[in-house]
Amino acid sequence: MFKHLCIAMAVLLSGCKGDGSEWQKAVVPVVQPGATVQIRVLSANNPRLAQMSPQQMRILLASAQKTVQENFGVTVEFTQIDEMGIERVFALIPPRVLAERKQSIYDFKSAIGDKRKLAASIHDTLASRGTKLEQGFAYAKPYLPETAQPKDLMAFSELLSSVMLERLNNWRSVNAADGAPVLDAAPYNEWIYWDTLGYAKLPYELVITNQLLASAEYVDVDIHSAIRGGVSVGTTTYSRNSPFGAYVFWSTFPFLDNSENTVRMRGGETYSAEEAAQLSGSYLAHEIGHLLFQFGHPFGQKSCAMNPVSMLRFRAWSQQIDSASCPISSRPEMNVGAVPPIFNTHWLRMADKP
Ligand SMILES: [Zn+2]
Repeated sequence: MFKHLCIAMAVLLSGCKGDGSEWQKAVVPVVQPGATVQIRVLSANNPRLAQMSPQQMRILLASAQKTVQENFGVTVEFTQIDEMGIERVFALIPPRVLAERKQSIYDFKSAIGDKRKLAASIHDTLASRGTKLEQGFAYAKPYLPETAQPKDLMAFSELLSSVMLERLNNWRSVNAADGAPVLDAAPYNEWIYWDTLGYAKLPYELVITNQLLASAEYVDVDIHSAIRGGVSVGTTTYSRNSPFGAYVFWSTFPFLDNSENTVRMRGGETYSAEEAAQLSGSYLAHEIGHLLFQFGHPFGQKSCAMNPVSMLRFRAWSQQIDSASCPISSRPEMNVGAVPPIFNTHWLRMADKP
């Protein structure tokens, strides 16, 4: 999904964040129908959390390949999986860029955060993506308080921000296998860090982690991650070193975890080891749609692999997709180049300074 991806519609390019930064679109990769593309893979795990076995990783990638083939008509070949701890991966992030970007993190762990600013930023993101209140609210309604009836996009954004913060807080009581909270003082859960990694010269188009990605930030929060309490399953975002102009980071946590919180968000779905890997790969095809074709999100159009999963109901999502009913170019969001990743030239220059 782009949890997030600050959308790059032409009208907004001059100031996506309104901070005078310099934003540019990544070019649209040229991927012909029937093409074979190679994707370099890194596994970046947190040793405190459960992780997929080598066999599960094979199932995951095979499932992604099959789903991409069926839905987008191209063959992806994954390289052998390299491995690196998250700490080492994060050490690649250019420190000056990270220092600037950290200002966008809503610090929920210290309970220091500006709720009004969060709501305003959600509103900006929805407006910039052309989100219509009716469509957005219909998508989120089953997962919002029953009495909710926002009168406009701002009221909807305020509702989303309060739901997001309440549910994000719930993740703090979920424990890892070692008995300590999954979310600790380490910044591994912070979407901003992962979203900044592409400013390093990262030699991978896909980074798979077992980390729970749950956070709030004053940029790029969209409906589906807000109602999950700031959880990202994956994101496709700018990467300077990728032939596609972007890379995917992907969390296996929502597939592997069986805490009450996660299972509730799955609508009760639980998975065998094999199904967890298979569903994770299937849904990864959604990110590969962003990566190779820059598709957007046809929210609520359940036949589309580019429709974000509702909460964490991966099995339901997988059963509903139907490539014949949602071919490329069938909807504005399914046009190649619909939502190009954008990058900040100021940050790029900053990354190159010693
Ligand atoms: Zn997406």
